Amino acid sequence: MWKQTIVAVLLICVGSIVFAKPQRPLDDAAFQQWLQQVIAPKAKAAGIRPATLKHLESLTLNHRIIQQDRRQAEFVLSFWQYYTRTVTPERIEKGRQLLARYQPILDQVTAQTGVPGRFLIAYWGMETRYGGFTGTTPVLQALATLAYEGRREKFFTRELIAALKVLQNNRFPPEQLKGSWAGAMGQMQFMPSNYLHYGQDGDGDGKVDLWQSMADAFLSAGYFLQRLGWRPGETWGREVQLTASFKRYELADGLQRRSLDEWAKLGVRRADGNPLPKGEMMAALYLPMGKEGPAFLLYHNFYVIKKWNRSDYYAVAVGRLADRIIGGPPLHKKPPADPQPLPRARLKAIQHKLNALGYNAGKVDGIFGHRSRAALRQWQQDHGEIPDGFPSEQTWWRLHETETAVQR
Ligand code: CA
Repeated sequence: MWKQTIVAVLLICVGSIVFAKPQRPLDDAAFQQWLQQVIAPKAKAAGIRPATLKHLESLTLNHRIIQQDRRQAEFVLSFWQYYTRTVTPERIEKGRQLLARYQPILDQVTAQTGVPGRFLIAYWGMETRYGGFTGTTPVLQALATLAYEGRREKFFTRELIAALKVLQNNRFPPEQLKGSWAGAMGQMQFMPSNYLHYGQDGDGDGKVDLWQSMADAFLSAGYFLQRLGWRPGETWGREVQLTASFKRYELADGLQRRSLDEWAKLGVRRADGNPLPKGEMMAALYLPMGKEGPAFLLYHNFYVIKKWNRSDYYAVAVGRLADRIIGGPPLHKKPPADPQPLPRARLKAIQHKLNALGYNAGKVDGIFGHRSRAALRQWQQDHGEIPDGFPSEQTWWRLHETETAVQR
């Protein structure tokens, strides 16, 4: 659940190299020495007993993980690309079957935590394709290697000690602790500290087993969401339609909240064209692909999902997958003519240009976050464009022309 992903950025191989702070020798003798001198005393102080500490002795460095961590590249997907890769017909169909199969367990979890079963199934589908891929990397080795490598030493040291506690509390054999190369574990890909804090024993066998026991995995996910602030009886959001009378694109930043009644007055309708439900429920309007793409109203629980994974795309995918699993319709909005995102270089050029024109687009990094979108929105407003804050090819050309005009 703790993720390498930030907003629309998927971390895959190839790309910029980030060097570690402490340059420790990458050999097993030095690694072992560090484990015994630095990690063991910390773990002992945190309550890890000698029998569990022994598992550190057999650890070796995993060079593949070091390479992976240093080669974190960032491939940007557009919302549409991300959505069609995650909310697939297969995942929807399988989710429906699993929702039916696990209904009794899920009903209990909902009674205890307030989180409906469809969301728990959707998380499961998103995190591990319903258990199809929970990871094969030994977690102690992964976390120890990443802590030793040093780029995020504090974080991974904490997770390593948490993993030892998980092992100790549940009397697992160490080979059971397998996960992603960054240490996320089990059906729902919990990081060890979350496993420790939020893991629940759903089947009452005295262990929290997030690999083998779906009762444990579902209750843990439900409990985690409850603790993150899930509101029972509310959903995540909905796809909506912006009518021709809708003019307030500057409000559609996914952050500013207004009541459903206010949105209705501004020209927002249900995706099928019917009026929005009446009420004071607060929602933000989000246009992940600008004025040409789909539109969503986001409720409180959307932001709870985002605490699990900070990506807006991820949170929409979880919500939509949950809806589709219980028979909700496909997106009303048709696919865009060009689902490709602008290349990083072009996004950088837009950020650079906005900064040069006096609009604060923030760091020129090709990641078009909230600040860049706000700057673009302001520029669009000042130049009579629809202020959707979405960087398109046309945006680029209009910006380009503006600068030329100024230079003249
Ligand atoms: Ca259990």
